Amino acid sequence: MRAMVWFRNDLRTGDNPALAAATREADRGVVGVFVACPAQWRVHDWGDPKAGFVLKQVGALAGELERLGIPLRFVCVARFGDVPEALARLATDLGCDAVYWNRELEVNEVRRDAGVRMRLSEAGIGAREFDDQTILAPGSVMTDEGRWYTVFTPFKKKLIGVLDQEGGLGKPAAPKRQPEMLFASDEIPTAVGGFGAWPGLGRWPAGARDATDRLEAFASGGLADYRERRDAPGLEGTSMLSAYLACGTVSVRDCVRRAMRQAGAGTLGQIPADSGAGIWISELIWREFFRHLIVAFPRLCMGRNFQRQYDRLPWREDDAAFGAWREGRTGVPIVDAAMRQLAQTGWMHNRCRMIVAMFLTKNLLLDWRLGERHFMQSLVDGDLASNNGGWQWAASTGTDAAPYFRVFNPVSQSVKFDPGGAYIRRWVPELSGVEDGAVHDPPPLARSRFGYPEAIVDLKASRARAIGVFKACR
Ligand SMILES: Cc1cc2nc3c(=O)[nH]c(=O)nc-3n(C[C@H](O)[C@H](O)[C@H](O)COP(=O)(O)OP(=O)(O)OC[C@H]3O[C@@H](n4cnc5c(N)ncnc54)[C@H](O)[C@@H]3O)c2cc1C
Repeated sequence: MRAMVWFRNDLRTGDNPALAAATREADRGVVGVFVACPAQWRVHDWGDPKAGFVLKQVGALAGELERLGIPLRFVCVARFGDVPEALARLATDLGCDAVYWNRELEVNEVRRDAGVRMRLSEAGIGAREFDDQTILAPGSVMTDEGRWYTVFTPFKKKLIGVLDQEGGLGKPAAPKRQPEMLFASDEIPTAVGGFGAWPGLGRWPAGARDATDRLEAFASGGLADYRERRDAPGLEGTSMLSAYLACGTVSVRDCVRRAMRQAGAGTLGQIPADSGAGIWISELIWREFFRHLIVAFPRLCMGRNFQRQYDRLPWREDDAAFGAWREGRTGVPIVDAAMRQLAQTGWMHNRCRMIVAMFLTKNLLLDWRLGERHFMQSLVDGDLASNNGGWQWAASTGTDAAPYFRVFNPVSQSVKFDPGGAYIRRWVPELSGVEDGAVHDPPPLARSRFGYPEAIVDLKASRARAIGVFKACR
């Protein structure tokens, strides 16, 4: 049997269930394939950062696979609808008997895979699917009544219970080296179908080795202080693994295993919830929660509010305000710092993601879908489930979302989480000369002196407006 492994957002060789099974079961060799779909990526709002990062990881994956005696084919088609034919043809040409892949959870991906299964079956080729995207497969963490959880804390408690009861995560799935490489790998392009080179890409090294080194460095260093440092955008207090998790260069289960080892815990339940490891694992479980939710409620993949009562919200239309937000010139220093960090690095600190998302949806009263889309186009770690979850949380339209009356004041957030103003000064250099406390909300004289705009919205009045509008919808 010759197997083809179709890599998607599992761009690694370690702890990859589909790859491990293929290398175990094939006796006539294994080949890999990656299918780029640039037109579909555009429909999914990918920008140059995400496309460039993914292609870079695919290039590194080709090298890793070669060391296992597995060549990687690179195929480029416009859309998901073209994938079934392209894969069936390639598998036939290469004499493959079965195609192996790890499940993706988003609606269009699920539909695409159904089409692939059907077309492969017509061609007499088998299809084998595995779970990989999550710690536990969606559908295995349910309430006692068999329902999906829509609130995080009980979901987390149940997940920990199920995992510990099942005896934990076990060993990572290891691939078997193949006796011979059937042919050379394709050259992996650095850009496809209109996506351009992104100047920030150099900040993000490629490959599982780098992702694992990052995990290792964080686990043996920052994890212990994660509780104290994770909310300060001016410190490097988080793992910065999100982009690698989003495209699967590192496995979420390996992250959990590593944190457990660092905590010296045999089960998740033994890790104190308020320790660095406990809080970090909790963040990984937020990622998990949002992934289970898109399976439970596919409408989340379609730009719909989770809470339908808010379908009637009268979002404002204001291109000028949206432009100022996107470009980091709202006159609210922490918001501008965060939006400029995003533009330059393709990443933004979680605390700041919450601040800018609340500012857009509450103070500016602009539709969360505008922000979700801009994030997706700009982030290197853009990920439908987490991005949608984060935006609907901030907009109070999601499951377990921030209550509509809890509107962050960006200036107080800035004072609390960036007290010395280091983060603001780094990303809004025109404010570097403003004295300590004033940097969070410079007085008019300082603004005009340093060429920094007045705030585009009155924070107090706009907060009251948002609360009123949300209340009226309920
Ligand atoms: C409006 C908004 C949009 C977001 N969009 C994305 C996105 O497109 N892609 C993305 O990966 N994350 C997104 N997040 C979640 C979070 O901000 C990032 O995962 C985190 O900042 C990444 O930094 P890190 O890797 O250093 O995280 P760490 O603090 O080291 O956390 C470890 C991992 O846990 C996961 N994680 C952490 N916090 C969250 C969270 N709140 N929700 C879901 N997963 C989490 C991530 O995979 C992260 O890499 C969004 C949050 C908000 C509020």
